[in-house]
Amino acid sequence: MLYNLAMIKKLLDRIFKPKNIKPDASKPQQAKSNRPILATKKTSRKNTELNQHQTSKNAALTISHKTHKIDRTLLSSGAHKTIEGLQKAGFEAYIVGGAVRDLLLKRIPKDFDVATNATPEEVNRVFRRSRIIGRRFRLVHVLFGDETIEVSTFRGSHLETDGDSKVADSGRIIRDNVFGSILDDSVRRDFTANALYYDPSSQEVLDFHKGYADIEAGVLRMIGKPETRYAEDPVRMLRAVRLSAKLGLKIEAGTQAPIAKMADLLQDVPPSRLFDEMLKLFLSGHAIESVSALREQHLHHGLLPMLDVVLEQPMGERFVMLALQNTDDRILSGKTANPSFLFATLLWHEMLAAWEKFQAEGHHAIPALHMAMTEVIAIQAEKLAIHNRYTATMKEIWGLQPRFEQRAGKRPFGLLTHPRYRAGYDFLLLRCESGELPMEIGEWWTAFANAEGDERAAMLQADTAPKKRRKRSRKKVGSASSGVISVSDSE
Ligand code: ATP
Ligand code: MG
Repeated sequence: MLYNLAMIKKLLDRIFKPKNIKPDASKPQQAKSNRPILATKKTSRKNTELNQHQTSKNAALTISHKTHKIDRTLLSSGAHKTIEGLQKAGFEAYIVGGAVRDLLLKRIPKDFDVATNATPEEVNRVFRRSRIIGRRFRLVHVLFGDETIEVSTFRGSHLETDGDSKVADSGRIIRDNVFGSILDDSVRRDFTANALYYDPSSQEVLDFHKGYADIEAGVLRMIGKPETRYAEDPVRMLRAVRLSAKLGLKIEAGTQAPIAKMADLLQDVPPSRLFDEMLKLFLSGHAIESVSALREQHLHHGLLPMLDVVLEQPMGERFVMLALQNTDDRILSGKTANPSFLFATLLWHEMLAAWEKFQAEGHHAIPALHMAMTEVIAIQAEKLAIHNRYTATMKEIWGLQPRFEQRAGKRPFGLLTHPRYRAGYDFLLLRCESGELPMEIGEWWTAFANAEGDERAAMLQADTAPKKRRKRSRKKVGSASSGVISVSDSE
């Protein structure tokens, strides 16, 4: 009986302890600033795991600074502070994943991820400005001004019965919160090149899967059996294509082979996850290469709604390709690219078709445009899982387009000051370049925007005549609308 009570107490302790932890001198505490606090003593958990970690580490090749030559001053200050904070609190902490790979490839990492043996709660206690996020993977975001460092606890094998993990019948991992050693963590990563652990303090890289050699050889290789890894997470097929296009790495033959026959598994992936991955692909700076690689790998037809839109519109293909090229150019020259703009381009020819349809049904131009926007957003944006936060801007960009065809009176001045003028103008240029509109319209707006006051007025007069002729058929239409064209009466 006593024994049972003790057992029950222990069990209750185990269940409730994480929530009821009292500040304890032996544990790292929250600090007033985001500066980490030093641990006075290692927790027993860490002591018991020490041997295990030592064994894990022995499974790795240790690559010294002399060989890899990573310049640690290239790490962001947030990355430095996160590693330093965790290590001073007695934990292990490494830069991991894409950042190490990019540094070895002499590229500037776009962000820094940290892996540690501290649990999310422990990380959260080390950094005051941090929050635990995620369900599928619980992570900690540590905030330093504008920079966010994503910290993940070493993941264990999802096959272990302990912990919180769930695998669907198809083999797809649904939830995955089992913690493990650094070796376990490395095995769960996708490609060998993505499984390198860099400790900026010792300047050593730990390599469990010969990722360093693969990077040197320019190869993207799946860790473990590719078929199993794609079944666990079909998005890895897209990642293979995207990362190889972005980094100029060749997909290793065994990693490549199963993709064609396993492509259908992408149908099981939640649309929102596909959306995130396609967005990364489109904004990688290598969208054109990625799209043609996806086509070569038979990863497009019917599997990726977003890609169907790109590739299966004979009328709009030139337009969409120009838009992707434009996005690639912007990103590679260090500019930002607005996802709303990109989605507005992807769906523009759907929009034109719907717009024409509503006009053919007898609706006036501007109401027809609004009806088309509503319809395309309702059908396509839902299919593509385009988030609401993007659709408002898409509508604005589309809604401005008829206004660019009005080049008389006061209205061009009004358009120049519209908050979305620049996006609308860039969109107009793509329409001209794709042959949908005469180049002259785009050129006129470029000149008009660059002209001084008097010159602008002169331009208006010069363009009024052809404009009126163009608009004659729409005039009746516009005057009935509440929209933009009706104002032309004032010209
Ligand atoms: P990018 O430069 O595009 O950010 P990345 O490799 O850093 O590329 P992230 O999505 O930021 O991609 O992922 C960070 C790391 O997490 C990866 O390098 C990899 O180790 C691991 N990872 C990400 N997605 C998966 C996945 N689907 N399966 C296994 N490991 C993954
Ligand atoms: Mg990354």
